[in-house]
Amino acid sequence: MTMIRTHDAIVLRPTPFQEGGLIVSFLTEQGERLVGLAKGAKKPTAKWVSAFEPMGLVRVSFFGKEHVEVRRITRCELQHTPLILGHLESNLVVACLADLFDRIAKEGVEDERLFRLLSACGRAIKTNPDRAMAVLAYAEHWLLHCLGLLPHPRTCGYCGGDAAPLVMLADERGWRCAACTPVDLAEALPTGAREYLRLLRTASAEEAPDPDATDAARAITELLRGRLLRELGGRVGSYEVLHRMLA
Ligand SMILES: [Zn+2]
Repeated sequence: MTMIRTHDAIVLRPTPFQEGGLIVSFLTEQGERLVGLAKGAKKPTAKWVSAFEPMGLVRVSFFGKEHVEVRRITRCELQHTPLILGHLESNLVVACLADLFDRIAKEGVEDERLFRLLSACGRAIKTNPDRAMAVLAYAEHWLLHCLGLLPHPRTCGYCGGDAAPLVMLADERGWRCAACTPVDLAEALPTGAREYLRLLRTASAEEAPDPDATDAARAITELLRGRLLRELGGRVGSYEVLHRMLA
């Protein structure tokens, strides 16, 4: 059956396709990844040329048979964009976020948490672009949670204790504490790790804690980012650009 379906969605990744077209991936409001073909989208006459920027909130219509992989995009209207002209850092963060969600969202799988998280991040970045790096760290934390890779930091996954400071995150059984795990002081997480994790868990995207405020915040940010990128297979182009520009 051929039909038109319209979604509120967030643009993830536009990829150039033959004859000036674009293949565009979206995250729908239901948290599913959908891919569509916009024919001739890069021609200057195309009325929707600005509608396919990463993380733009759009209303998009697809035409095509059910269960085909790529449907035609017949209409796409931009409602909101977190991009700010000339604000390099926040725009690079937007690219990283779009990249992350493009890899994590799946076709045929709905996870509404993904849409809620990404739209909250977009609004927070637009409101305060200077806090984009905090929003990125916030999103990485919640994506690990959504993927089931982030155990609760209240108790040690090994001994069950909740008093000693956390010293590391192990792939098996999660957080480990100083009471059961002897770790070289230089390799252990700085004190305050549990407190920073609590801030990440309880804050809104707009109040995301500063990932650069303390040694613990810096160490947890690096740890969680490394864990997430490893899960996604290592090299993520948008992160390489971000690191180069901020170095
Ligand atoms: Zn322990």
